[in-house]
Amino acid sequence: MKRTVLICVALLCANTIFSQEIFKRTLKLMGSRFEITVVANDSTEANNYIDMAVGEITRIEKLISSWDPASQTSEINRNASIKPIKVDEELYNLIGRAIEISKLTEGAFDVSFASMDKIWKFDGSMTVMPSKEAIKESVAKVGYKNIILDPENFTVFLKLEGMKIGFGAIGKGYAADKAKKLLMEKGVSAGIINASGDMNTWGRQPDGEFWKVAITNPMDKNKAFALLPLKDNAVVTSGNYEKYVTFNGVRYTHIIDPRTGYPATGIISATVFAPKAEIADALATSIFVMGKDVGIDFVNQLPKIECIVIDEKGEIFTSKNIEIETLKK
Ligand code: ADP
Ligand code: MG
Repeated sequence: MKRTVLICVALLCANTIFSQEIFKRTLKLMGSRFEITVVANDSTEANNYIDMAVGEITRIEKLISSWDPASQTSEINRNASIKPIKVDEELYNLIGRAIEISKLTEGAFDVSFASMDKIWKFDGSMTVMPSKEAIKESVAKVGYKNIILDPENFTVFLKLEGMKIGFGAIGKGYAADKAKKLLMEKGVSAGIINASGDMNTWGRQPDGEFWKVAITNPMDKNKAFALLPLKDNAVVTSGNYEKYVTFNGVRYTHIIDPRTGYPATGIISATVFAPKAEIADALATSIFVMGKDVGIDFVNQLPKIECIVIDEKGEIFTSKNIEIETLKK
């Protein structure tokens, strides 16, 4: 009798372990399309976890959004050249890491690029090419060296009038990392946080396989060109096919070269693999600015980071430790 009961309990446990399923929700967060995937026992459990991830991403958006006048980031920007602003340790540290990435990329990535958003607008409102003078004047406000951090008081000060910081190139990656961390802490065995192509994964699918990600073909955004397995890894793609303006037949993308104030050219897609989506996000943007050769060289010197770059002719280049199985066209 006892044995039968034990066997039944064992079977029940086995059943719950093996009946895990994949649940997904797609929604708009941080002005972008997010897709949150979790492996769970049932939809109630899955919804509960997904709600937690949504809560976490919404919390981060409130902290880092430069569109929301109530965010601490907006307060820093409003007080450029006026006074240092005390912020949450989390935002302080994020800005600190952004500055470190600027140093690492020799300024290709610059969190203070944001004053350029008065000049280059990618929301369809731009009708003429900005003048050289306007670009020159605006780019003079860009420079991470003029962000002053005070580690004792957790204050941030932008030295120049009109200076502005923005997390367009790093915020979605950071949010994906934080949502993943939260769900892992809550005991979710596997999942994917996909922030419009900036994604972080953990665990395995219920059938034991690793998650696979499709990399968008920049020549035809409805098609994937490669399918890659991800093992507790993040992957981020920056493309020139989502936000751009066209003048005289030339496409100007939303990634700005902080040295010139003009949009970066030459690359149409940069995909970066890294342990964290935040660094992958920042580096994908940086590669656009650095260009194909310098960008790949740079990645080859970094441990645990790989990249795939597509130039404007559609040719694919990769860092040295990556193998891609290109999908048949
Ligand atoms: P996506 O928005 O498609 O995920 P990215 O991660 O490459 O693409 O981020 C591009 C955004 O980053 C731009 O829309 C802008 O907000 C910001 N940005 C543009 N140029 C730079 C730069 N040189 N350094 C830091 N951020 C930048
Ligand atoms: Mg980026």
